[in-house]
Amino acid sequence: MTGNNNINAPKWEIESIFPGGSKSGEFAEFRKKIVTDLAAAAISLEKLPANLDTKGISDWENWILELQRLYEHLHLAGAFTGCLTSQDVNDDEAHRMESEIDEYYSRWSMMRASLESFSIRQTDGDWKKLLNGNGLKAIGFYLDEMRNNARKKMPEEMEKLTLELAVNGYHSWNRLYDKMAGDLRVEIEQDGKKTLISMGQNAARMSEPDRETRRDAFHKMEKAWETQANLAAMALNFQAGFRLSVYKRRGWDSPLYEALLNGRIKRETLNAMWSAISNGRGKLTDYIRAKSKYLGIEKIRWYDQTAPVGKSARKIPYPEAADFICEHIGSFSEEMGKFTRMAIDKHWIEAEDRSGKAAGGWCSRVPIRKESRIFMTYTGNFDGLGTLAHELGHAYHGYVLRDEQPLAQTYPMNLAETASIFNELRVTDAAFEVSDDPDEKLMLLDQKLQSAFGYYTNIFARFLFDTHFYNERGHGMLSKDRLSQIMKEAQKEAFMGLLDEEDGYHPLFWASKLHFFITGSPFYNFPYTFGYLFASGVYDRAVKEGSGFAKNYRDLLADTGRMTTEEVAMKHLGADLTKEDFWTDAVTRSLVDVDLFVKLCGK
Ligand SMILES: [Zn+2]
Repeated sequence: MTGNNNINAPKWEIESIFPGGSKSGEFAEFRKKIVTDLAAAAISLEKLPANLDTKGISDWENWILELQRLYEHLHLAGAFTGCLTSQDVNDDEAHRMESEIDEYYSRWSMMRASLESFSIRQTDGDWKKLLNGNGLKAIGFYLDEMRNNARKKMPEEMEKLTLELAVNGYHSWNRLYDKMAGDLRVEIEQDGKKTLISMGQNAARMSEPDRETRRDAFHKMEKAWETQANLAAMALNFQAGFRLSVYKRRGWDSPLYEALLNGRIKRETLNAMWSAISNGRGKLTDYIRAKSKYLGIEKIRWYDQTAPVGKSARKIPYPEAADFICEHIGSFSEEMGKFTRMAIDKHWIEAEDRSGKAAGGWCSRVPIRKESRIFMTYTGNFDGLGTLAHELGHAYHGYVLRDEQPLAQTYPMNLAETASIFNELRVTDAAFEVSDDPDEKLMLLDQKLQSAFGYYTNIFARFLFDTHFYNERGHGMLSKDRLSQIMKEAQKEAFMGLLDEEDGYHPLFWASKLHFFITGSPFYNFPYTFGYLFASGVYDRAVKEGSGFAKNYRDLLADTGRMTTEEVAMKHLGADLTKEDFWTDAVTRSLVDVDLFVKLCGK
């Protein structure tokens, strides 16, 4: 890697998906056909036989396959629209299409709800007969899961009404919050001029090397949210209230129930994970002490969590980053190396640094075309190298699944990060190996430990908050002050007292973090920690067994859409996730670099 200011980050190629961007006639035709087909599927649903005799079986099989086909088409339409809105945030036509496709999705969900209630009216024997047919065998897991979950729901009409009411009720609180957060601004001084910046731009200032900048960013963020805290508290209370009412009607006793179903994991597994973390994360204290000393801070505060340590002045041009990733991924698995090269050469990646693009990074599968697209902004630093490797991991996961049936390609969030974090770990470790600059080595080590720190403290605090909040919400509304109090207590416990007692907490975190408001995925926190530890466990096997593990790794990814999380781990790693051992090992390994970090900090 050489110093070079010419980053050469390319744009992506999406013309081959649909030519003409948001004005594409071909895409308009494609969407029109979805509407017609959705309507036709709704009509044939009405005519389907109530029972599963021989004719019934074949009619239902065909209809379910049509439902699956529509899902794939909707997925493609959604993925393409996502590309358009991300590459140009001012593409109004693309934003309009996004809402249009949301609408289609809800029609699709209604038909799925009908299938759910049909499924529970069938005897186990008849249902089994239906799934045993050649057409549905490959998506048997998905359909069985759907049926089992449907048994835990309300009657069909009530579920449908709930789905419908949720659009303008439940999910609207989420939208209202997003709008509120999007409109918030803080004022900063830039080149002697006062400028208003968004909360996202301000958040980036909290990772600046200068502590005064970080402090300023934090206090401005708190102050901005203070002005909206009452409204945010209402939004949070109302959506939680809606959720709990539905759970009560369904007979779900725990607020965690839905999140566990979504994650395809057992309660014991989640408990085992948190317990292993609580018992094994003590070494983080050494990490934070060494880091604080290095930074000249007595006790860290909220805004020091992502303070950088060490540095690297080097800029890595995109082609070099791409080569580096291909080399180190390819040395583990030839197939992965070849795939990665192909994704880069075929321009599946939008990496250019320009204005008008959305923030963040993601990878999306492009079904039917059997491809993927990666969105990010590559500016030539190590973060960018890590993100590129990460997203290429997601793309590989999609590649492994490309020939599976569409409904056997859907995996839970806690398994979604396996391939991405795997890639990230491999590339960060390789960068650390080849670096001969102590400052750079320190920076890379810090980045690695910082993630572990975040997963075991910050994310843990979110989980504790949600747990306490939902328990209290069952008895009534919580004031903004009560929410802040619960948040502070959660942070105290999760950060093991490492934050400054005086002024180190962020009580309004429940308002400033959009994750608490995501209605689509309740408890949008533990899957992060889960995914990180699970991926680390898989990565460790690759380190120990080398290329010999590559095929096993591929098989593991291929199964992520057709079994529970515990089954995937048992089949491919021989690990019992409900026991603490697997997690304890993973936590210990993730902190193994602490000693080296302390040593390098002292130099
Ligand atoms: Zn990811």
